[in-house]
Amino acid sequence: MKAAAFAYARATSVDEALTLLAAHGDRAKVLSGGQSLMPAMNLRLISPELVIDIGGIAELRRITLEGKVLRVGALTRHVDLQRSPEIAAHAPLLAEAIGHVAHPAIRNRGTIGGSLAHADPAAELPACMLALGATMVVRGKRGERRIDAADFFEGIFQTALSAEELLVAIEVPIPQRDSLHFFHEFARRHGDYAIAGLAAQAVIAAGVFQDLRLAFFAVGDRPMLAGAARKLVNAAVTPGLLSEVAASLDQELDPHDDQQASAAMRRHLAKVLLRRCVATLLDRPEFAESAA
Ligand SMILES: Cc1cc2nc3c(=O)[nH]c(=O)nc-3n(C[C@H](O)[C@H](O)[C@H](O)COP(=O)(O)OP(=O)(O)OC[C@H]3O[C@@H](n4cnc5c(N)ncnc54)[C@H](O)[C@@H]3O)c2cc1C
Repeated sequence: MKAAAFAYARATSVDEALTLLAAHGDRAKVLSGGQSLMPAMNLRLISPELVIDIGGIAELRRITLEGKVLRVGALTRHVDLQRSPEIAAHAPLLAEAIGHVAHPAIRNRGTIGGSLAHADPAAELPACMLALGATMVVRGKRGERRIDAADFFEGIFQTALSAEELLVAIEVPIPQRDSLHFFHEFARRHGDYAIAGLAAQAVIAAGVFQDLRLAFFAVGDRPMLAGAARKLVNAAVTPGLLSEVAASLDQELDPHDDQQASAAMRRHLAKVLLRRCVATLLDRPEFAESAA
């Protein structure tokens, strides 16, 4: 199938893109890498009247270190994240996760801003944003606002962005020096969207979690920070406590059935991920072996 006819405009600045968005609202769609937008248009799931190509706006394609924050421009491509020494040094969770996003051809064009604005609940990067406590920098004609990642994702393909706003950057607080991360996903094949996944960021001292952020994905209509993680912080982790936390995931997660997996299987996999994560971060392999 081919996309329905549409008009095309290439914005050369953020201001120009915002003027076009203000004039056309939800009849327009922003084009970044096109790796999600174009398939959706070709399948006629969406048919915008106007496509606003922001791909050439150089100021949105930068990674800069600003004090204790890593600022990543929305047009930074997946491959740029993968190759960035700043990301490797200060946000290794992202560097690891990106290798699970699709395949090299898609990573060469797809952007972080496109992935976050698209808000696929099975995507890796939205969950990483939650685990890292990132902030979305959003600009509209009336100015800029900052939205916590935890408030940005509102549902399947839904975010806090209005039709007249652009995601311009992501601010990632640099994790403290002794932070650790964990990333794992179950997928049919490497590069496929996850059936269930977990991105986590932790601080550990003397074998005890001082902080633990567990961001599950593909187990609900949006990525989710597990509140149950709090029970593991400042606590002596035992198999019993871990089982309690695993059980409370049942209340927190809201997975769906589809052709890839049942909701029950996704719940089971989330618990397996939790155990593997805690076992890896605490270097206690026996925790991964307990019954899920
Ligand atoms: C075969 C295949 C496999 C894939 N597998 C995975 C996978 O495993 N994991 C995964 O996470 N992704 C996967 N993807 C999606 C891929 O990562 C996309 O690159 C990404 O989701 C969107 O980035 P993009 O720059 O291409 O965005 P686009 O396709 O250009 O845009 C996506 C959406 O976001 C909006 N948008 C884009 N940029 C902005 C902005 N700055 N501000 C506001 N709105 C904006 C667009 O209007 C559109 O609605 C896959 C894609 C394909 C084709």
